[in-house]
Amino acid sequence: MTEAARHIDAASEAQLLDAVDRWVTREVAPIARAHDIDDIWPESLVTGMAELGLFGATIGTQWGGLGLPAATYVKIVARICQDWMSPTGIFNSHLMLAHCIERFGTADQRAEWLPRLASGAIRGGLALTEPDAGTDLQGIRTVARRDGDHYVLNGAKTWITNAVHGEVFALLAKTDPAAEPRHSGMGLFIVDKSCPGFVTGAKLPKMGYRAIDTGQIFLEDCRVPADRLIGGVEGQGFYQATGGLELGRINVAARGVGMAEGALARATAYAQQRRTMGKPIAEHQAIQLKLGEMVTRARAARLLTLDAADAYDRGARCDMEAGCAKYFASEAARDNAEEAMRIFGGNGFSQDYEIERFYRDAMLLIIGEGTNEMQRLIIARQWVKRHPL
Ligand SMILES: Cc1cc2nc3c(=O)[nH]c(=O)nc-3n(C[C@H](O)[C@H](O)[C@H](O)COP(=O)(O)OP(=O)(O)OC[C@H]3O[C@@H](n4cnc5c(N)ncnc54)[C@H](O)[C@@H]3O)c2cc1C
Repeated sequence: MTEAARHIDAASEAQLLDAVDRWVTREVAPIARAHDIDDIWPESLVTGMAELGLFGATIGTQWGGLGLPAATYVKIVARICQDWMSPTGIFNSHLMLAHCIERFGTADQRAEWLPRLASGAIRGGLALTEPDAGTDLQGIRTVARRDGDHYVLNGAKTWITNAVHGEVFALLAKTDPAAEPRHSGMGLFIVDKSCPGFVTGAKLPKMGYRAIDTGQIFLEDCRVPADRLIGGVEGQGFYQATGGLELGRINVAARGVGMAEGALARATAYAQQRRTMGKPIAEHQAIQLKLGEMVTRARAARLLTLDAADAYDRGARCDMEAGCAKYFASEAARDNAEEAMRIFGGNGFSQDYEIERFYRDAMLLIIGEGTNEMQRLIIARQWVKRHPL
């Protein structure tokens, strides 16, 4: 991606954010509750996402994408999550796939896949996690064996976002299961559903992040053309898969920002309407203390996330910044959702209000894209490295 493609002027950014805001208000917010409760994939939102250019938001303009800087992208994601987090999964995971191809793919792979991904003509995701390996990605068991001009893949992936409604995935496999160190024997493949032996499992039932399809993928002697190995060289897969995680973490942080702000906005309105002991509960000190903490958390989450996005856009090393943003903003989302629930009293527990959805959805942010336990380890290691004796 060129430097020029990473810039957007203030007026164009404001125009884009305004269009996203109007779309969220008109199309997303009204369907959130019913789609979440009934766990229905929000098909009606896909056309609007494509029209807004969201499927190509961070893909370079030369491929038909918007080429947005991360700083603008996080504002879009946060705005959507102020009302409903789930729909962002349709284009977030898709853009992680595109990111791997754009950053590490060969010229032919970029030309073949990026224009169609940018337009949303095909959609997909990132398939790393397996039943026995999530945090420990080097422990995956899916194997890719070379057979002439194809690789033959066998294994299983789980918890894959867009597994049911997506068509193509950046899928991590071992090309040399005996390699030491383990990461040196891995490859990242572009695998689509037309590959013989690709089997899509069922949509997994979830406590939150509902409506979006998170599912399993089975590879049963799945034949993948050899030119689908990203970058064309074996042994780079682990590096390529984790190379996109900084952007992924900034993206999760942006979701946390939106949710922390969304919970705060709802609690703020409710606290001024609900009256006890002859006055709005917003005038009780116990509620004010909560709101004060919630405002601070939401603002700090936004600032940390923009700081990480800024470092990313400058091309600076930002694993620590992305980790801090992901960790803090996801915990802020969960804490603000919980405090909002308390402010809503019994109504916070009701599906007639949206707070319980914020509470359920926020937990995903704490687990996904590297658990918050791991984030703190990454932050600490990088901090010490940057401050040697
Ligand atoms: C809704 C949802 C959507 C998802 N979407 C995708 C997707 O699109 N693609 C994809 O590839 N994956 C996806 N995931 C998987 C997700 O990335 C993993 O669940 C996550 O990385 C954690 O892995 P795990 O579940 O195997 O937990 P484990 O790795 O088994 O971890 C269990 C616990 O042990 C802790 N732990 C593990 N190792 C260490 C260590 N070395 N030091 C300290 N603590 C440790 C963890 O922090 C955690 O608390 C999704 C998950 C969910 C829930």
